[in-house]
Amino acid sequence: MILLSAVTSEGPRLAAKIASGIVIFSQAKAHSSWEERTLPLTLQAAVTEDGGVERLRAYLKAVLDDPQIGRLAIPEDEVRVGKPFLPGNVFCIGSNYRDHVQEGGGTLPERPILFAKWTSAIIGPGDPIVLPSDTSEVDYEAELGVVIGRRCRSVSMAEALDYVVGYTCMNDVSARDFQRSDVQWARGKSQDTFGPMGPYLVTRDEVPDPQALPIRCSVNGRILQNSNTQLMIFPVRELIAFISRGITLHAGDVISTGTPHGVGFAQKPPAFLRPGDEVVVEIDGVGRLSNPVKAM
Ligand code: ZN
Repeated sequence: MILLSAVTSEGPRLAAKIASGIVIFSQAKAHSSWEERTLPLTLQAAVTEDGGVERLRAYLKAVLDDPQIGRLAIPEDEVRVGKPFLPGNVFCIGSNYRDHVQEGGGTLPERPILFAKWTSAIIGPGDPIVLPSDTSEVDYEAELGVVIGRRCRSVSMAEALDYVVGYTCMNDVSARDFQRSDVQWARGKSQDTFGPMGPYLVTRDEVPDPQALPIRCSVNGRILQNSNTQLMIFPVRELIAFISRGITLHAGDVISTGTPHGVGFAQKPPAFLRPGDEVVVEIDGVGRLSNPVKAM
């Protein structure tokens, strides 16, 4: 399933994308073939409940498979899609693509490099990335976001993907000058609006292998990152096993799994974001996340 959060006059509402458009569940509830039951109003409520989406999966799928549902779907360009949900923790992984480590001139890490993006930075598709006035080196990073669906601690690599509810696109927007001057990364990665996410939460069953996904980033239509998640140094299952060894992962946590080569600082000349730019992160089978850039 492709789940999303539709922005309605009543607030964000749980919705799904099907071939004929977007189904907003709360608006489609009158459908005669639906059994009487309470659905969560929002994707936020579904995702952050332990195992919430998993419990709903069969029912939502049956609703979406109903041939009658097509006439309740709204064309996607008539729906405002918001950020899918506000994550609990956002775990970011540094230097996790072979091609990105090589362009930075570094050596391959021996274990995953974790850092945090504070969730106040999270924005949705179409929301502007606002450039703070005291940095001139704001960079894009296309990343696969892994959404945890069930609480877990100390899981094995073999079981790790069982705790994933789905995947989304992330842009790990980064102020390089802040990263340099601070020596660590939290401030440079967590400026307001530096966490574009979405537009969809694509459930795990639709992504059979998270290590085989073409991933790209373009600015104003020019493709600057063009890689594949198979180049991750530490695959998703290993990241979950590594993090959960000492940190409980909760439903609604997100792991942003690192970025491939082609970031702005490594372009010649460097290609930092400027007001008026349009940044697009695209992962085949997961979605296309587009955000304009503006000055503060
Ligand atoms: Zn990153």
